[in-house]
Amino acid sequence: MKTINIIIPCHNEAEVFPKLQERLVELADNNKEYKWEFIFVNDGSRDKTIEKIKDFADNDKRAKYINFSRNFGKETAMLAGLDYADGDAAVIIDADLQDPPELIPDMIKIWETGVDDVYARRKSRSGETSLKKWTSSLYYRLLQTTTRVPIQIDTGDFRLLSRRCVMALREVRERNRNMKAIFSWVGYKKQEFMYDRDARAAGTTQQGYGKLINLAIDGITSFTTAPLRIAAVIGLLVTFAAFLLMIRVIIRTVVFGPDTAGYPSLMTAILFLGGVQLLSLGIIGEYIGRIFIETKNRPLYFIEESNIKKANSPTSNE
Ligand code: UDP
Ligand code: MG
Repeated sequence: MKTINIIIPCHNEAEVFPKLQERLVELADNNKEYKWEFIFVNDGSRDKTIEKIKDFADNDKRAKYINFSRNFGKETAMLAGLDYADGDAAVIIDADLQDPPELIPDMIKIWETGVDDVYARRKSRSGETSLKKWTSSLYYRLLQTTTRVPIQIDTGDFRLLSRRCVMALREVRERNRNMKAIFSWVGYKKQEFMYDRDARAAGTTQQGYGKLINLAIDGITSFTTAPLRIAAVIGLLVTFAAFLLMIRVIIRTVVFGPDTAGYPSLMTAILFLGGVQLLSLGIIGEYIGRIFIETKNRPLYFIEESNIKKANSPTSNE
């Protein structure tokens, strides 16, 4: 019998947990031809999430958990789940029931035809502001222009991954993680699966705009060094234009004598160049900051406790 792991990152999800538990149990009970294992990753919740998970685990052998020592973020929580997912396939799903668990059997059917990554593409997204939808679509379009790796538009982290895909993802252990970018980067056979994204069943979103902007920058910098090149190209163009201007100024001075006017144009040129320099420094700084963090090579997460036994014990950064 094949084992399906369901990885559920949870951060302050006590409110939805009973509903989540109910729907997961229903899913597993209705599909007994597979062996199910739920891997809850409690990402430093400050509410009663971990108590609820443990209650579930006490009553149901299928429920496993990893309790992080603090909040490490959803991207890292997903990786921890993958580290412990030793079944034949793994499904990543949000705890807030925005991704309906009932779709998983259909995803499994596609996986059984030999697809490695069955990713769910959103037909609609209820309960999300049009600003969020618009910024996210703009972002994916922008990201695609910077890289040859095909980017899946309108997909989240809700997907089913084959064993070899899980093994590949485990090897990508960078710290500034953007899982969506990494899913695309590892490749393998992908197939989309359309669905309607529900609104949150309870509670409020944890991924505020601040977190999303960081994630967006990580997505770009982890994929490509194109922004560095853009900075260099702008620098080159500005330098060339400044050079032409300089020749013009020299000739004018020689022919017509010194010219005290021109303060505004001088100021404009200085400010413009200063701006381009600061922008370029900022972009370079983004990359250097990432090099700094990456070279420290710290473990990606620490586990306070877990009920999953693993043969080669969980060093978090193997
Ligand atoms: N999440 C997490 N760690 C965090 C923030 C969120 O594990 O620091 C989990 C959260 O519990 C949920 C999923 O990530 O299962 C998606 O979070 P959320 O619904 O807040 O984001 P949105 O759906 O609004 O993008
Ligand atoms: Mg959500």
